[in-house]
Amino acid sequence: MKANAKWTFLLAAWALAVALPGMRISADPNPQVKSGVDRLYVIDCGDGSGLDQSRWTPGVNVGTPVGFPDHCYLIHHTQGWFLWDTGVDDAFAQLPNHEKVFHEWGPGTGPIWRKPITLAAQLKEIRVEPSDIKLMAVSHSHPDHAGNIEMFPNTLMLVQRVEYEWAGSRQDTIALNKKHPVKLIDGDYDIFGDGSLVLLSTPGHTPGHQSLLVRLPETGPVILSGDAVHFQASFEHRYVPDNNWSKQASLQSMDKIAAIIAKEHAQLWINHDQAQSDAQRKLPAYYQ
Ligand SMILES: [Zn+2]
Ligand SMILES: [Zn+2]
Repeated sequence: MKANAKWTFLLAAWALAVALPGMRISADPNPQVKSGVDRLYVIDCGDGSGLDQSRWTPGVNVGTPVGFPDHCYLIHHTQGWFLWDTGVDDAFAQLPNHEKVFHEWGPGTGPIWRKPITLAAQLKEIRVEPSDIKLMAVSHSHPDHAGNIEMFPNTLMLVQRVEYEWAGSRQDTIALNKKHPVKLIDGDYDIFGDGSLVLLSTPGHTPGHQSLLVRLPETGPVILSGDAVHFQASFEHRYVPDNNWSKQASLQSMDKIAAIIAKEHAQLWINHDQAQSDAQRKLPAYYQ
């Protein structure tokens, strides 16, 4: 009960904060500064499937199976490599059929994750060593995003303070290793100070969920969703999974993303959207 009271308080404090007028992104693009980002790789970080899509779209597509791809993104900045999300655990590649069934809230409630190709193998393919990666962040502490954090034990991880404290408190999350070097963030954060990579605080799916705005020189601005939304239809119709931490915060975060898309003509790359994934080029190809 004590923990619940704490999170209820945090939710109330958050609601008060976002109710203030003039929601603002703390790192608007600065036309005087050249973006330091020059390359973004989309990496296959798991091949998921679910028996019932309505687990993520309550009341809609009940009983319809769904493909559920999982991605990591490696971004090159002139100041170093940055890894966004780490996917499902590479160790699943060693299991029979390379697969693991998740039972988040009982049998059949979680996706089945297949891992035919590992994150480690894909980094090797482009000759990037884990120790080459200067900074990393995961969108949140679910195992399909935080599964390989300790493949990079010396890489500084940027994490929202509330997520850092909350992670591991529910059976569907991963407790973060407290020995891992971290920088705790409160809200939006301009990673390299040039507006090219900006963490966006998008709570709701989890209390410290974050998304990433990447301003690519040729592709233009792209928002990497994390699980702020799960599918394109979820964004268009504002579907919120029942097990999200806060429905209200989830909806506000979707509105925040929509406002940035409208202002910057940004693209929204949804981590688990099958149709988007099928159309994207994957490592070793990249976006500029
Ligand atoms: Zn999640
Ligand atoms: Zn996810």
